[in-house]
Amino acid sequence: MIGLYIHIPFCEKICHYCDFVKQVPKNEDMVDLYIEHLVNEIKSYQALYLHVDTIYIGGGTPSMLTTKQLKRLFEVLKTYQPIEYTIEVNPESYSHEKGELFKLYGINRISLGVQTFHDHHLKRLNRLHTKDMIFDVVHDLKSLGFYNISVDLIYALEHQTMEELKEDVQHLLALDLPHISLYSLILEEKTYFHHQYLRGKFEPLNEDLEAQMYEYIMNTLKQQGYDHYEISNYAKKGYESKHNSLYWTFQPFIGVGAGAHGFLPPYRTYNERALSKYMKHPLKEKVLQDEVTMRNDHLLFLLRMSEGIDLSMVKSMYHDDLFLLYPSLLKYLELGLLEIDHQHLKLTQKGKLLGNIVFMVFV
Ligand code: SF4
Repeated sequence: MIGLYIHIPFCEKICHYCDFVKQVPKNEDMVDLYIEHLVNEIKSYQALYLHVDTIYIGGGTPSMLTTKQLKRLFEVLKTYQPIEYTIEVNPESYSHEKGELFKLYGINRISLGVQTFHDHHLKRLNRLHTKDMIFDVVHDLKSLGFYNISVDLIYALEHQTMEELKEDVQHLLALDLPHISLYSLILEEKTYFHHQYLRGKFEPLNEDLEAQMYEYIMNTLKQQGYDHYEISNYAKKGYESKHNSLYWTFQPFIGVGAGAHGFLPPYRTYNERALSKYMKHPLKEKVLQDEVTMRNDHLLFLLRMSEGIDLSMVKSMYHDDLFLLYPSLLKYLELGLLEIDHQHLKLTQKGKLLGNIVFMVFV
């Protein structure tokens, strides 16, 4: 399996929590010019990779491209016949015409940036859409025959109540979609919220309440038939993200576009983040991964998944016992953050709450 990630680094407005590679474009010409460079970069890889299994167009906000720009991009990708072809959509920049175009070019999965169904929280996050727009977009996508829709939701918002979180989850369930990605609000450095926090104008949610929210989400989605297959991702059977699973199972992927990363073993590739630099020469560096780094990344990603780490795989692949390689894992077993189930090391429910502490073992 090999994937292709394509980054569209443009947004109509910048969300207060966002630390992705993005900017508000000065004008349409700037986006046109970027698309031309992107197309050239894609073509340079197409000469080397005749086949990809998954394509993921992410951002930024890919759905803010005009239909003409989308067509330009989709045309060059036509040589590929991926089994999963995803595009990220934000409700405010979606249109029926764009939905038809997605269908026409074989896109078979939509990742919808919902974040919350509460308009006052959306406003505080600096998002451009409203709750009503979310329902309209999902309705329209379904009318076009899209069922494989994933929704991104953020919890632990500033001043969010448990009641509001429950309402978000209930709205989500009412939409009857097969995939949900859930993240807690993180105060990333250099974001607007982080600046506000440093000036005492942003109040992070109480940690106990955040933990209660996470538990509520886990339990509710499980009861509703969703498999918690990765620490932040839930899916109905057969709707797990194939593209993201490539990352988590340490398989190769090409990354194109400003700021995109790729993994072409034994190298990781890093593209230039600044548009001006990217347009001169996209690839910033290609870093040879040493054995220990590769092993650490591999095991960390596996532990994020519900299947966990197969202990016999570690022995056969890395010629040693997992607990000899990483003795501090034993401490987390004793503390009940980890468990061994059918010869697989997994995070417990408590461990999923405190996953970042455990993951430090591999950093
Ligand atoms: S739309 Fe997405 S990429 Fe753009 S600023 Fe908001 S969170 Fe960041």
